Amino acid sequence: MPTLLVKNIHTLVTMNDSRQEIRNGALLVRDNVIEQVGTTQELPATADEVLNLQGQYLVLPGLVNTHHHFYQTLTRVVPAAQDGSLFTWLQTLYPIWANLTAEGVYISAQMAAAELLLSGCTTASDHLYIFPNDCTLDDEIQAMQAIGMRFHASRGSMSVGESQGGLPPDALVEAEADILKDSQRLIEQYHDNSRYAMVRLTLAPCSPFSVSRDLMRESAALARSYSGVRLHTHLAENQSDIDYSLHTFGLIPGDYAESVGWLGEDVWHAHCVKLSDESIVKFGKTGTGVAHCPCSNMRLASGIAPIRKMLDRGVPVGLGVDGSASNDAGNLLQEARTAFLLARVRDTEAAAMTARQVLEIATLGGARVLGREDIGSLAPGMAADFIAISLDRPQFAGALHDPVAAVIFCQTHQVDYSFINGKKVVDRGRLTTVELETLVEKTNKLAAAMVDG
Ligand code: ZN
Repeated sequence: MPTLLVKNIHTLVTMNDSRQEIRNGALLVRDNVIEQVGTTQELPATADEVLNLQGQYLVLPGLVNTHHHFYQTLTRVVPAAQDGSLFTWLQTLYPIWANLTAEGVYISAQMAAAELLLSGCTTASDHLYIFPNDCTLDDEIQAMQAIGMRFHASRGSMSVGESQGGLPPDALVEAEADILKDSQRLIEQYHDNSRYAMVRLTLAPCSPFSVSRDLMRESAALARSYSGVRLHTHLAENQSDIDYSLHTFGLIPGDYAESVGWLGEDVWHAHCVKLSDESIVKFGKTGTGVAHCPCSNMRLASGIAPIRKMLDRGVPVGLGVDGSASNDAGNLLQEARTAFLLARVRDTEAAAMTARQVLEIATLGGARVLGREDIGSLAPGMAADFIAISLDRPQFAGALHDPVAAVIFCQTHQVDYSFINGKKVVDRGRLTTVELETLVEKTNKLAAAMVDG
């Protein structure tokens, strides 16, 4: 099995149990797994492949994105959807999304992944919940296998259309029996629960206002009949979401989730902007995770999620850029910086979030939310998923007193190297697995076709 030595790392951020940061660090990788971590002097002098970082780069664990809708990359900044809040934004976009095709699923997944990879993400979860025309989740999984990203694919679903009191148009919802049948097919075809798995499956009914209680319960039962298949949905995103839950179910979102069996270590919910204090305590006690999506929450004027409170109650928290139509960027380094700033605004307290705490949320936090013990830190036996960022860039000038904190305090957009499962996917700032210019061109063509109908 080939070995890779990364040496002369200015600072190696391990995120190991003691949160060690190693000056003049080095990493030895064998195949897809980290074998040794230490200083350059302590590690072997050579290997099959050597990357000498000349004392000019930080190395961190790859970042983890816990909530996204890749297909929305085709509908960024749609003029009619620029200034609406959640429900009107959705109702404006649903008819456009009805034009999605299998090719659109494939290309938008690679485009979104490219943006994530360049901004430090090595593991992503995606939530695809509409399947019009010839769309399947298979297209997305194959796109991610080709680009080389570690991937948690969520089989999303919508089953309650407008005529039944839901938000989406009837033409975009599926029959519940079909959803469950396809979910089972996908799990059996793609789900890999082994250590270092590159593809895992999640079942993800879209939201309380687009699926029934039955589908929530049955999805949970199906997921729990397999090892490592997790559950994901949107919850307590804004005040309209709370109002819908109270009106339709007579319960606040946290209690609704509990009533359908959606609290537990195998569940994570996106947003939770309006989660009540009692629900936060229940999330902490049950290990129910949260995908925090600060840019989307600001963009849709949903509010600010109480992240400090969640962390203090032991709730697992990861970061999510959310779909590209409500961000409308997909840059995970930027999302981490925004989470850091917004936590301070929420509590009017600068100490509410430190740079290192948000880096921990972006790595270990995301790994925990996705139920992974093999990513999120750099230590022997962990997956070889790591990123390198050059310190020789204008944004870091004058900030080298603390280069690790500078990743967050200063405006870092892009990584220089990224390795996933031991393979180099970003090399000197360029993707190695796709031709970016062609991908952008195809994305623009498909986006125009989709929005023009
Ligand atoms: Zn979302």
